[in-house]
Amino acid sequence: MSGVLLYKSELCGLIHFLVADQTVIAPVPLTHGQFKFAAVTTLEEIALDAIPTLLPPKKYFLPPQESLLQYDTTQGEKMQAEVAIEETVLFGLHTCDLAGIQCLDMVFADRPKDLHYMIRKQHFTLIGLECNDYCDSSANCAMLFNHLPKGGYDLFLTDLGDYYFVDINTHKGDLLVEKSGLFVPVTPAAQDNLQKLRQIKTKRFKSEIPIRYQDIKPLFEASFESNVWTDIGAKCLACGNCTNACPTCYCFDIVDEPEFDLTRGKRLRIWDSCQHENFARIAGGENFRKERGDRQRHRYNRKFHYPMERYKQIFCTGCGRCSRTCMARIDLKETFNALIEECR
Ligand code: SF4
Ligand code: SF4
Repeated sequence: MSGVLLYKSELCGLIHFLVADQTVIAPVPLTHGQFKFAAVTTLEEIALDAIPTLLPPKKYFLPPQESLLQYDTTQGEKMQAEVAIEETVLFGLHTCDLAGIQCLDMVFADRPKDLHYMIRKQHFTLIGLECNDYCDSSANCAMLFNHLPKGGYDLFLTDLGDYYFVDINTHKGDLLVEKSGLFVPVTPAAQDNLQKLRQIKTKRFKSEIPIRYQDIKPLFEASFESNVWTDIGAKCLACGNCTNACPTCYCFDIVDEPEFDLTRGKRLRIWDSCQHENFARIAGGENFRKERGDRQRHRYNRKFHYPMERYKQIFCTGCGRCSRTCMARIDLKETFNALIEECR
């Protein structure tokens, strides 16, 4: 791992260099202080000060709907897997979004490996951008140490005034730096400034939830029968916005779409949500999580409990999207504080 500097006057040149032969995706502004990831061609379109986008970057690796295979029984070849790929740069990824992509990588590289995800992912270049301050009151990245870079990128930019400190994390990142010719060597002063910023961040980024990382899983183990689930279940609209917006939610449904004569068709993968009533319904009409409170408990446990057992990793990045997007104002920090209060 090594570093270089990029003067801000060269950032426009970097975007120009990237768009020459790749699609570049970055946060762009929407109305009401919201942002989304979208294709850009110039620096002016990019919101460098964006808070987490409405949908996380998972939509590029795991599209809301994708065709996994096509079949045609009128031809000799009956079934053909398909995966749409395009060389793409994701620019301006916050540390929380990089953490979310790392969680998805663990899941989709687990057996059985998901080749559609893994093939598509190989064609992405990831360029992170450090948050020097908290996004808003919904974010809880400090509780999970996701306010600092923990890998998962090719290049990572930290704003240090007139220039960015650029951490090179992969060979792909190294090649990009070399080919663009826009970067300059790191100076001792830049190293010092990076250290100072990180020290300032330890004071700025304080978790507002009074719990240590290692105590999070036990909290959820102890609160399975908590009334908190009944309370938030009474408010929940079962819309599924929170899971769609979550960078680490990856549940999907598989749907076959045959043509009328049944000789040809497609197999589609479509995002699903554990918050929908039919998600846990099985043959015979039984439903393991019929009540909304049960489904909320499941969502939280899928972030803070079950992945710790399987991957030794909490699957919440602290992005705050679920709290920001919830029409019923179910807030992750409030849920935590209620559980902690109840377990005292
Ligand atoms: S976004 Fe809010 S209301 Fe909708 S399912 Fe999630 S918690 Fe329930
Ligand atoms: S649970 Fe909420 S805060 Fe945590 S990663 Fe998902 S959307 Fe972000």
